Amino acid sequence: MARYRESVCRLCRREGLKLFLKGDRCYSEKCAFERRSYAPGEHGQMRKKHSDYGVQLRAKQKLKRMYGLLEKQFRGYFEKADRQKGITGTNLLVFLERRLDNMVFRMGFANSRNEARQLVRHNHFTVSGKPVNIPSFLVRMGDDIQVREGSRKVERILDAVGTVARRGVPPWLELDKENFKGTVKVLPTRDELTMPVQEQLVVELYSK
Ligand code: SF4
Repeated sequence: MARYRESVCRLCRREGLKLFLKGDRCYSEKCAFERRSYAPGEHGQMRKKHSDYGVQLRAKQKLKRMYGLLEKQFRGYFEKADRQKGITGTNLLVFLERRLDNMVFRMGFANSRNEARQLVRHNHFTVSGKPVNIPSFLVRMGDDIQVREGSRKVERILDAVGTVARRGVPPWLELDKENFKGTVKVLPTRDELTMPVQEQLVVELYSK
């Protein structure tokens, strides 16, 4: 599968905000964005004026990179969101949130979405009692996500669970740390998704 291979910190610098792609490092002084909060490259510190298209493109790139998706996958979610009833932008965000790798990260079983994706692929989780190793699996309201019994000593999972308080668990999820289990109480509303993204610009970009 195609993958982004450059330093992910460059992505934060390009988008002008912390995307939290590197786990622990993102919360430390070593965070590249804390040290150089301007775009990478020779002209990174120059002020740029974006066209409408440029603004929409940056909004799309920001969201896509936050969830670690490639263009084709991201576009697929947009098309699904557009076919559903309701506000397309909100539908898009909810689809992204429902991905299993995102839920594992949000529940605190991984320090980043990238790490969550690897852990899911390595078969460390069940969804409502059944093993699932597909990061794009769409979780439903009421599903339980649990670390498999044999995986409860995996260092990366223990480390993430140990530091979950720092990131916090969103109100639509419930974490039972003792049993390495999280439950999707409800799907999030737009107001509960507090990351700084402007999904309407993404809709405008793809609707051209
Ligand atoms: Fe972004 Fe994390 Fe790198 Fe900081 S450490 S620039 S938040 S990926």
